[in-house]
Amino acid sequence: MNCGLTDLTSTNRLSGVSGRQTYAFKKQQSGVADLERILKVLVSMAHPDDAEILVGGTLLHLKSLGCEIGILTMTSGDCGSATHTKEEISRIRYAEAKAAAASLNAWYECAGLMDVEVFLNAENLRRVVERMRHFNPDVVITHSPGDYMLDHEEASRLARAATFALSMPLYQTRQTAPSEPTAATPALYYADPLEGIDAMGERRWPQFYVNITDTIEHKRVLLSWHQSQRDWLRAHHGVDQYLNQMTEWAAKFGGECGFEFAEGFRQHLGHGYPHEPILQNALRQFIKPAATRPE
Ligand SMILES: [Zn+2]
Repeated sequence: MNCGLTDLTSTNRLSGVSGRQTYAFKKQQSGVADLERILKVLVSMAHPDDAEILVGGTLLHLKSLGCEIGILTMTSGDCGSATHTKEEISRIRYAEAKAAAASLNAWYECAGLMDVEVFLNAENLRRVVERMRHFNPDVVITHSPGDYMLDHEEASRLARAATFALSMPLYQTRQTAPSEPTAATPALYYADPLEGIDAMGERRWPQFYVNITDTIEHKRVLLSWHQSQRDWLRAHHGVDQYLNQMTEWAAKFGGECGFEFAEGFRQHLGHGYPHEPILQNALRQFIKPAATRPE
């Protein structure tokens, strides 16, 4: 099975904003679209384990569909311990994140920022743009603009600013051996915030849900790579159910849409970004649009 934009009714050719690369598909006898170019999906989030907690079930679907996956974290989780030094926990968590990504056969990079110091500023933006250009994504998934902590919200802002700048030839990252600007602006998506609620405790409703009932068990295995975070949460928050809590949140989102377990997403539809439902099309067999809700 292939991953990407699909139009099962005919040979399809979709192009995005000006200058965007075109994905081309050939309809096969089976009716399954044949992707000529592999879809590259980058999850850009604040900390090690955020990608696995918030979108791990969807990543597993995308992986099985043949997409190329990348995970970029802003920090290596240097404050995520009550017992280790910053250097020790950074090394541990970087290794855990890399191992979790490797289990998905995914690219992994850290932007080198520090916990609770994830801010949208020029230096941090250059670091994020450089790493995104290196991966060259078609789709970027980041945190909700409203989330429970500022590192997540600032990582979301950094992803938004970076994706806008990726294809600008005159925007220079000033890094060693910089990567080339990308050919086009990637499609940008926001995951549900942690627990689905923002800092005011209000639900940030998704645009669509992905059914992760078939991947929830594997998602728990994926998250279990982050053993130190599991230990840290137990010590700092008194939470002893790292995996079970994630599962409960997925069940809560599933309960909103009629799936057993789900993850929610919204697409950024501002000027200059692809409006094609690239991720929705790739995941169409797992998707359910969110019901219209009163503001
Ligand atoms: Zn986080």
